[in-house]
Amino acid sequence: MGKEIASRSEDYSQWYNDLIIKGGLADYSAVRGCMVIKPYGFALWENMRDVLDKMFKDTGHQNAYFPLFVPKSLFEKEEENAEGFAKECAVVTHYRLKLNPEKKGSLMVDPDSKLEEELVIRPTSEAIIWNTYKGWIQSYRDLPLLINQWANVVRWEMRTRLFLRTAEFLWQEGHTAHATANEAIAETKQMLEVYATFAEEFMAMPVIKGVKSPNERFAGAIDTYCIEALMQDGKALQAGTSHFLGQNFAKAFDVKFSDKENKLDYVWATSWGVSTRLIGALVMAHSDDDGLILPPKLAPIQVVIVPIYKGDEQKKAIDEKVSGIVSELKQKGIRVKYDDNENSRPGWKFAEYELKGVPLRIGIGARDLANNVVELARRDTKEKKSYSMEGLTDSIADLLDEIQKSIYNKANSFREQNITNADSWEEFVRLLDEKAGFISAHWDGTGETEDKIKELTKATIRCIPLNNPQEEGKCILTGQPSNERVLFARAY
Ligand code: AMP
Repeated sequence: MGKEIASRSEDYSQWYNDLIIKGGLADYSAVRGCMVIKPYGFALWENMRDVLDKMFKDTGHQNAYFPLFVPKSLFEKEEENAEGFAKECAVVTHYRLKLNPEKKGSLMVDPDSKLEEELVIRPTSEAIIWNTYKGWIQSYRDLPLLINQWANVVRWEMRTRLFLRTAEFLWQEGHTAHATANEAIAETKQMLEVYATFAEEFMAMPVIKGVKSPNERFAGAIDTYCIEALMQDGKALQAGTSHFLGQNFAKAFDVKFSDKENKLDYVWATSWGVSTRLIGALVMAHSDDDGLILPPKLAPIQVVIVPIYKGDEQKKAIDEKVSGIVSELKQKGIRVKYDDNENSRPGWKFAEYELKGVPLRIGIGARDLANNVVELARRDTKEKKSYSMEGLTDSIADLLDEIQKSIYNKANSFREQNITNADSWEEFVRLLDEKAGFISAHWDGTGETEDKIKELTKATIRCIPLNNPQEEGKCILTGQPSNERVLFARAY
């Protein structure tokens, strides 16, 4: 039999961990809050990275790399940003260990190696990057500067969770510089669109685009735009953010440019990022009690072929047929694996690839060969159907497209069913307890009310949706007037 995993209804959080660990995406590590990303999980990340990287380049960005360490004096320059991240920074204070004279075989920090200035391990790279931009930007001709970095960052998170919230995580961070506020705002919105397109078209995960309330804004930003997704347990997940930073970092790092009239002004900035959290989002958005369900466009293996045979002769005949199928699929750019490992039985393999979320499985036996057909099993619906060997590659390509659409539609209708209006406090609390999801409600616009609601219910404002219709109403907590609804949810 396959590996046991918890069911969603019994223990959602155990279900999630089981999928990550038993599905082979990641492993726990010896370091608190940090995980090992295993080959299968890393292949998924690489596919995400490749698609996003192309989207960034198609919108004019270039990749670069900046140091992992940020000298404390630079880190503290943009005060709001520094204060916001201070509580979760890992800091390097020494650069050498030595043998501990009091305990054989152990090492101690060498007190003589104390750094003159502490180094902060980047929780985000605005400081080190804007300090560098100072030397790169003098005139309007140097703008816009459109740079992205693929890197790891460290945020000393107290409550961690595989992929969704880890102390070290992989991400990309875009950092752009512009001559005008309008250009920077347009960039911020453009990158939000890129993220939304990626989430919907590649991850098959519907998202709501919006702006964060002041309480949830990135430290140092004027505005934080975000995409918010809904997980199957009714909790929301911030899947990506794009920040309009105004001139805050340019002022902190004294980055000025001369415009066409030779007038000096501070540069306008944006930053935007998505992280390995997206893998957690993907897992929670689509998977079921039998394991992962991965969208074909990102799945490391799109099609797995399992031979079913007795004896060498049958195996040889299947091998020959499969080698033709495999090369045709590969030619079409389809990621295929032929699993003819003799050490495990077909039934075990079926369960294993189900757990790993491979979108399509081909079972092929001696009788299929005789009839010139194969059996295709869809991971998402568990449907099995016989297909002719003629035109098989096209049938597979069509099915992969259909699965991609079908899991999006399923996630989308779940999301639609789980956005509910609440018009009173009682209704708000009841909805949160009964079905969670996004709750659309009026809010008086103050941080105090937002804090109070969070304290009472653990729900936060996920976003103020873009193109939000204006509507007169009363704040669900204070009864103060409000002219639009915002989206609340309990969130990861
Ligand atoms: P931020 O710089 O805070 O706007 O975050 C950028 C992206 O990283 C967002 O998409 C976050 O959802 C994601 N993120 C933030 N903290 C973590 C974490 N501890 N682990 C994984 N992803 C994170």
